[in-house]
Amino acid sequence: MGILLITHNMGVVAQHADRVVVLRNGNVVETDTAHSLFDAPEHAYTRALLAAVPRLPEHASTTVAEKPAGDVVLELDKVGVTYPARRGTAAFRAVDSVDLTVHAGEVVGLVGESGSGKSTLGRVAIGLVQATSGRVSVEGQDLSSISATRLRTLRRDVAFVQQDPATSLDPRLSVGASVREPLDVHSVGTPAERRKRVLDLFDAVRLPAALTDRFPHQLSGGQRQRVALARALALAPRLLIADEPTSALDVSVQAEVLDLFAEIQRELGFACLFISHDLAVVHQVADRVVVLQSGVIVETGPVDTVFTSPREPYTRALIDAVPVPDPARRRHHAALAV
Ligand code: ADP
Repeated sequence: MGILLITHNMGVVAQHADRVVVLRNGNVVETDTAHSLFDAPEHAYTRALLAAVPRLPEHASTTVAEKPAGDVVLELDKVGVTYPARRGTAAFRAVDSVDLTVHAGEVVGLVGESGSGKSTLGRVAIGLVQATSGRVSVEGQDLSSISATRLRTLRRDVAFVQQDPATSLDPRLSVGASVREPLDVHSVGTPAERRKRVLDLFDAVRLPAALTDRFPHQLSGGQRQRVALARALALAPRLLIADEPTSALDVSVQAEVLDLFAEIQRELGFACLFISHDLAVVHQVADRVVVLQSGVIVETGPVDTVFTSPREPYTRALIDAVPVPDPARRRHHAALAV
């Protein structure tokens, strides 16, 4: 049968399409066979799209400077999570004996296939899911034994960005009010100072101040994710948990948001656990990577080392499964598979 495959994932296009049609603002800007489109894109827009695709390197870079390790901000010590049995379903061990630390200023990528327990770990780290065994500490405070007052103060230091800002932002609040909400909840400054802080945050995520009065559905996906980032940064967190923050975005918008994220992270120096199924994205933003398989850590190390010379077959399989934006590599892979 013929297939019309609609996607923003250029790796998937390279892997599966014979012919490609590139659309921009409702107009076809270029159409060609996959091979020559990837080989010699004619239109500037196609070239920009291809340039925006994050890629895994083939060889380790020789110029990676190790970041000096700051204080430990997040520490998971033999953490396990078992979801309780419900009617008809047995109890499920989603995470098993995980040891993981994130230092101040460090971005740790968490990768693994769907269902490997990444989101569960992210939620445990901010206390949204209770660890059923082991210990979770944020800034040296054990989350299970902490007082309610101290937990409230600690919550100021930890922020969370989810995959889909369309559902994580309150649809009844203007996006300006959403960004101001954490400042209101924690009574930060005077109302005038909060209004000013909201404008500064919009500026930091490169959104025009005029958008503050809009509602989430009146923004594009990329703009909404910038709003979610601004809201997460409102209280200047020491730790950010980002769960698939760019997975719902088009490739060029994703590239912009990732660049913005990297710039803000360098500037503000918060620690980050960056969860993604996309290895190339993690390679771009993270210093270290943790590979999770069925709730267990199988490999961890600097991104460059792990992604160019993985020790574990599971990590190798994850790398090999990344759709490569190169139709020639597809044919090569297909030939090997036969
Ligand atoms: P990932 O983020 O890597 O896709 P998750 O952490 O969402 O993985 O899920 C890990 C496993 O735990 C999956 O098998 C999922 O079905 C299961 N799971 C997640 N949330 C719950 C829940 N609330 N109750 C029972 N099982 C759950």
